[in-house]
Amino acid sequence: MEKKPTPFDAVIKQLNIVAEKLKLDPSMVEKLKSPRRVIIVSVPIRMDDGRIKVFTGYRVQHDMTRGPYKGGIRYHPSVDLDEMKALATWMSWKAAVVDIPYGGAKGGIACNPKEMSRGELERLTRRYTAMLLDEIGPYKDVPAPDVYTNAQTMAWIMDTYSEFKGYLVPEVVTGKPIEVGGSEGRHEATGRGVAICAREGAKHLGVNMKGLGVVVQGFGKVGKAAAKLLHQMGCKIIAVSDSKGGIYDPDGLDLATVLEHKEKTGQLRGLEGAKEITNEELLELECDILIPAALENQITEANASRIRARMIVEGANGPSTPGAREILTKRGVFIVPDILANAGGVTVSYFEWIQNLHREHWTEEEVNRRLEEKMVKAFRDVLETSKKYGVDMATAAYVLGVKRIVDASEKLGLFP
Ligand code: NAD
Repeated sequence: MEKKPTPFDAVIKQLNIVAEKLKLDPSMVEKLKSPRRVIIVSVPIRMDDGRIKVFTGYRVQHDMTRGPYKGGIRYHPSVDLDEMKALATWMSWKAAVVDIPYGGAKGGIACNPKEMSRGELERLTRRYTAMLLDEIGPYKDVPAPDVYTNAQTMAWIMDTYSEFKGYLVPEVVTGKPIEVGGSEGRHEATGRGVAICAREGAKHLGVNMKGLGVVVQGFGKVGKAAAKLLHQMGCKIIAVSDSKGGIYDPDGLDLATVLEHKEKTGQLRGLEGAKEITNEELLELECDILIPAALENQITEANASRIRARMIVEGANGPSTPGAREILTKRGVFIVPDILANAGGVTVSYFEWIQNLHREHWTEEEVNRRLEEKMVKAFRDVLETSKKYGVDMATAAYVLGVKRIVDASEKLGLFP
């Protein structure tokens, strides 16, 4: 039985496979494995009860060969250096797969935002930003939302950064509210990209989207938008879950009712007429498309053989371990890997950054049209790479992303 690898163990394993396929020089592999900079800060804030509590914050800047560092900020108890390093590396590869001019980074604070007040979260965000003031910037490192952070978090970062600079700097973060320079379409961009990949995957497999049964793990920013858009494409959403558990209806859930129930009660469980299931059971449901859109390491060697989906579109980062992907691929499951499937978010973040730099505001149609173009091109590039190297889609995405970084790095050479 595979020891549950850490996310960064998975990165190293993936990189070694890519290195072999691309016949990379060992020194280049060493460079790609090592994040360029790791920043760890102790963030003290005053809690509502007057106590001072110190949180550990991270920002890992992995690679800037193709452009400024780019990556989300996560507030979650599981945040640690290993997770940040893995997510930062995947960001570098992801930006290269969709061919946007960014490097990769990731940040986060180990905390439980569900137990914190709005005031505490605001003080935490502003103090963390102040401590990273010299490390982030529009041409240096541009953060975005991730698990349990949102547009409001980004507005606090932008405001804190701008206060220190003495002028408004919307382009320092993406995923902001529309009122302060956010892009139309950003809030559902990642889910839209997931839905586009599912559609392209179905096309590749020669199946029609109408009536396909979809299961979504994680009903947050990504999962919710993916479910909504796949429903619009004619799919049937048969199960969804959040951290407290899932609900299932083989005839298809009514999404409007599900959303209303989640809004009202803060959870999915307890919806009348739907069967309650655990997150483990949800992953093993028979379905056409499974979308893990919660956290890492959900599909492992322990449950891969029980997964009955025809296609998996990875909305989350690192939801399947390399061992699990191997088992699933052998069983004929078509996997659209995370760095392709969830790249819609960073793509529209890039559009938001361009709009901010030019002080423009594009329409939602314009944003969605450009996103569609980028995602379809990336899907085809990865598919082509998979044929060229005779590898599955996940390996192909890593090969393509890493190759673009290596090609740029070789052109730049090594300073001094
Ligand atoms: P979110 O905080 O909006 O939602 C997370 C969801 O997952 C919530 O519904 C939560 O209840 C659920 N969840 C948490 N733990 C769970 C568990 N153990 N089992 C089942 N569900 C659980 O976060 P998000 O932005 O939707 O991010 C989800 C995933 O997508 C993460 O892996 C993130 O890195 C990735 N991602 C997000 C974006 C983006 O633009 N937000 C972009 C690319 C990738």
